[in-house]
Amino acid sequence: MRKDQFILPEGVTYLDGNSLGPLPKAAEARVAEMMRSEWGEMLITGWNKAGWMAQPAALGDRIGRLIGAPEGSVVLGDTLSVKVYQALASALELVPERKVVLSDTGNFPTDLYMAEGLIRSLGQGHALKTVAPDEVAEAIDETVAVLLITEVDYRTGRKHDMAALTARAHEVGAVVVWDLAHSAGAFEVDVTAVSAEFAVGCTYKYLNGGPGAPAFIYVRPDLADRVHPALSGWLGHDAPFAFEPSYRAGQGISRMRVGTPPVIQMAALEAALDIWDGVDMAELRARSIALTERFIAGVEALCPGVTLASPRDPESRGSQVSFRFEEGYAVMQALIARGVIGDFRAPDIMRFGFAPLYNDEADVDRAVEIMADILETRAWDRPEFKTKAAVT
Ligand SMILES: *Cc1c(COP(=O)(O)O)cnc(C)c1O
Repeated sequence: MRKDQFILPEGVTYLDGNSLGPLPKAAEARVAEMMRSEWGEMLITGWNKAGWMAQPAALGDRIGRLIGAPEGSVVLGDTLSVKVYQALASALELVPERKVVLSDTGNFPTDLYMAEGLIRSLGQGHALKTVAPDEVAEAIDETVAVLLITEVDYRTGRKHDMAALTARAHEVGAVVVWDLAHSAGAFEVDVTAVSAEFAVGCTYKYLNGGPGAPAFIYVRPDLADRVHPALSGWLGHDAPFAFEPSYRAGQGISRMRVGTPPVIQMAALEAALDIWDGVDMAELRARSIALTERFIAGVEALCPGVTLASPRDPESRGSQVSFRFEEGYAVMQALIARGVIGDFRAPDIMRFGFAPLYNDEADVDRAVEIMADILETRAWDRPEFKTKAAVT
């Protein structure tokens, strides 16, 4: 749909935008320009003159459009791990009489780790309870304070029914925190329609903001002036430049800001978000389903021995497809060596992300063809493909 707007190296079929989106051409120029004419020329006056201080809210609004959030309800900053902590801390305060944080065993580990750390710091007897992904609905009962859940499973691509789980949580008086890491930019999301209290996500996966791009947090507008930020940093203060001795939370979503925003990274993200202007999310989703269906059909026809780890029903899948294969790590290294870039998640999962902004049928067919050849010739069975790197 927008392939010409990205830098994709010659000979590379990039199927890992679910982990790190590729470089938008305009981001390179935008960052260079920002460095030279803003940082270089304006120096500290850039905070006002170039609008650096307003970026976290301005870009938040642009992400809001992709997740169904109204203006002034999303702000950027920090990493997703930090945003999970903030959202969960504020969510728990809304239901002080309950002590259970419910999540699922498929959740991305950092979400669970952050919950563990927060619970320990609070010291109020909270407990993190995890159940299998398909048992979440049943486990939502009157003991649950907060449902902390990631919509799309990073390993399998399984997609939760956000509307149904949120409705179930609200029925029993629980608050929800949705992690949209693998949703924002992957398909339509509507936090308003489901009335989610909190949502968080990152901008370096399907949104293509670049490695280390800041995360986002959404707080439902009717709650934004009520929540108490656990990370009460100066830029979330009502009057940061009054330098008052104690904290007073800022207006609305601005209180979820913590410290100095990553301005260079925001310049890259701004250019990346320009690509989304005018993208029809329903059309994007239809394209994504067409690509993942084609990939599954191709692999199942030509690659004996690999098994589908993702849901077969496209409605229950995000924008990635995962296959299990015992030597999946080595196969993935062999694929990468031949220019097909996906990734691997222990113990045996090969992941392939499909982003219709820059992936098309030719990418799917090339990936299938090369994988079939690697399996048939056992090209993966070499020592150099079996040595694990630090980042898989
Ligand atoms: C990618 C991802 C993260 C990453 O968190 P960072 O703090 O940005 O490193 C967290 N949670 C989920 C569900 C993810 O998919």
